[in-house]
Amino acid sequence: MGRIIAVANQKGGVGKTTTAINLSACLAEKGKKVLTIDIDPQGNTSSGLGIKKDELNYTIYDLIIGNCSISDCLLVNIYENLSLLPSNVNLAGAEIELIGVEEREFILKKEIEQIRNNYDFIIIDCPPSLNTLTINAMTTADTILVPIQCEYYALEGLSQLIHTINLVRQRLNPKLEIEGVVFTMFDARTNLSLQVVENVKENLKQNIYKTIIPRNVRLAEAPSHGLPINIYDPKSAGAEGYKDLAEEVIDKR
Ligand code: ADP
Ligand code: MG
Repeated sequence: MGRIIAVANQKGGVGKTTTAINLSACLAEKGKKVLTIDIDPQGNTSSGLGIKKDELNYTIYDLIIGNCSISDCLLVNIYENLSLLPSNVNLAGAEIELIGVEEREFILKKEIEQIRNNYDFIIIDCPPSLNTLTINAMTTADTILVPIQCEYYALEGLSQLIHTINLVRQRLNPKLEIEGVVFTMFDARTNLSLQVVENVKENLKQNIYKTIIPRNVRLAEAPSHGLPINIYDPKSAGAEGYKDLAEEVIDKR
């Protein structure tokens, strides 16, 4: 059965989308069948994978409000072994439209249940908030992967995230686990990055991935070419980082 991993942290700019895109692509490169789900209205995972998100007939928004079926909005094999449920700004309206809808925390889960066995991994990119969309990702997921940026306020908001995950586990998804924490944007030239890693390791009682994603300009450039890092610059430090992370995620099964 496929493993469903939600990439979540309600802080913006910590590397969720970069991780969702490149972990997905590196898992696919290693021969795993991957579905990437973009549940952020910013749609950066969709555009980062080369999709013209504003030219789509159907997106995950239509799926969530019951406007289309999953086969209508699923983009099959946009890269070898990698399919995508895309998003765009339309999804920003879903939060309001879902008010009062019964079982609205489980809409995504019910859709994904039908197709999860087609994949080895399903990676969900969450929006930078703890809203209904994020809760949908958390009820669908088996585990949560939390990117932490190597900067001074790294731990800010983390206790709130863990509290939310605990609430979801108690009330909505008893099997939900924290997959682990992954450090992103590590800058080997600064003491700060090292201090943050040490500090988080001391204070956080969660699994922490051995792989640390370096700050690497190629990772920041790749989305503007609509390419994952393993294709945009396979020899870059960023590509090495995400290939190692994919390896670790596979080994954890
Ligand atoms: P989030 O999805 O959490 O908001 P993003 O993945 O969009 O974060 O990253 C925020 C910004 O930082 C983006 O411009 C992205 O290209 C850049 N970025 C992310 N990870 C790295 C990295 N390891 N090295 C350099 N730039 C990065
Ligand atoms: Mg993002």
